Amino acid sequence: MLFIKNDQELVPRVLLDEYDTAKLVRIADLSLEELREKPINLEFEFNRKLQLFLSGRNLLLEEVPFSIEEIHEHVRHGYVAYRQGIVSEGGGYCCRRCGNRDLQLFYSFACARCKQSCVYCRQCIMMGRVTQCTPLLEWTGPKPDFHFEDALVWSGTLSPSQAEASEKIKEAVRERKDLLVWAVCGAGKTEMLFEGIEEALRLGLRTAVATPRTDVVLELTPRFRNVFPEVSISSLYGGSEDRHRFAPLVITTTHQLLRFKNAFDVMIIDEVDAFPYAADEMLQQAAEAARTENSALVFLTATPKEAWQRECFSGKRNCVILPARFHRHPLPIPKFVWCGNWRKEIEKGRIPVPVLKWFRERLEIGKQALVFFPNIELMEMALPLFRQFDERIEAVHSEDPLRKEKVQAMRDRVVPILLTTTILERGVTFPNIDVAVVGAEDDTFTESALVQIAGRVGRNPKYPDGDITFFHHGQTRAMVRARNQLLRMNRDARAKGLVDG
Ligand SMILES: [Zn+2]
Ligand SMILES: [Zn+2]
Repeated sequence: MLFIKNDQELVPRVLLDEYDTAKLVRIADLSLEELREKPINLEFEFNRKLQLFLSGRNLLLEEVPFSIEEIHEHVRHGYVAYRQGIVSEGGGYCCRRCGNRDLQLFYSFACARCKQSCVYCRQCIMMGRVTQCTPLLEWTGPKPDFHFEDALVWSGTLSPSQAEASEKIKEAVRERKDLLVWAVCGAGKTEMLFEGIEEALRLGLRTAVATPRTDVVLELTPRFRNVFPEVSISSLYGGSEDRHRFAPLVITTTHQLLRFKNAFDVMIIDEVDAFPYAADEMLQQAAEAARTENSALVFLTATPKEAWQRECFSGKRNCVILPARFHRHPLPIPKFVWCGNWRKEIEKGRIPVPVLKWFRERLEIGKQALVFFPNIELMEMALPLFRQFDERIEAVHSEDPLRKEKVQAMRDRVVPILLTTTILERGVTFPNIDVAVVGAEDDTFTESALVQIAGRVGRNPKYPDGDITFFHHGQTRAMVRARNQLLRMNRDARAKGLVDG
């Protein structure tokens, strides 16, 4: 969109029938002074629908289903501002939607709209192109207010450690603090968010629960809708339909946070260590930009990175540790079994003997198991070797089109043993399984991956135990750290009386 710069005012070209082409400008070429928002005119009757739609967002014109006439009226009265999408900065550029500053991620093209060479951001292009002639729209009027007294309708009870975490989360919400919740796999982290969110809704604080994975958004949404029946909750992921409404509580992928700005007074990020969030600076910046200045930030994880672990132990980071599972049984501890050069064996068409023995024992007694491999190629080489013993054995990986069906077949106990890559390290739970990692020394298996894999076992209160074996050709620091982490959690849990037996 282009503007006409008149003496007093900036007007979108499309609103004028006649104009002086010498006065045509792109938003990127205006000064901040020229773009400064107008003072709010309290007499102006703003459109509440536009307020609900745009508040806390950072959107392209084509993403806003209101006419440019109406939007511009709101700009004139100080309720909406045009912001630059791409700004020049110290010889380079910055994308104001995704925070990108990497020169290699900016391209320029001969733009049909502004009729000149126009720079755009490639990093966030999947959400529509932001160029030098693209304004981003921001709501600058009053925020929509809401207030829910006792929004939570839930009759469950929290375990003592969940209750402790829940208190800390409420405190972080009230005092707008940062908090790390380090909870073992199976601690029951969703429930301990309930009271903190209730508190936020009572205080009129807009809240986001963000997670790197769409699966988790889909799983959490109905649970939150159930316990907060009166609250409008939107559920955001690529292709979801809730995009266009205001909600005091938003369950979202970390990607969708790119569409928000200055929106959330409480930001809860689940699985903060998971792909792609942990490795993607853009998503981290998006989460930062989506928070309001004075906001609470709660991170949830079962496997914080090493630096954070240290900060927790030294007291530098406000944190609460939940060392025990909800069902009060200790965490199963992995065994290390040396299996020689497993890679070579598999390439030669043989299953390493210790792995074979483990596998046949499970097949004989009919105990289901997951067997993790470091990569797809080796797993596919191994599959026919395992299938010689039972044709129902399957293998699954991230690009597998039948992924869902195979996981379901495992749930239905049609598949006795499922070979997998790290794709199943999180999220999926089967009630009664054993787990093996073949090649646990491989770089793919970081400390946190191994803790997550071990966390698949013994989740169900009926089957709180299970075998975890790391087959390796040389122990790694990651393996040892993973085992020590689990041992320490069990020790802490025992000392606090959080496990039985
Ligand atoms: Zn961008
Ligand atoms: Zn352009």
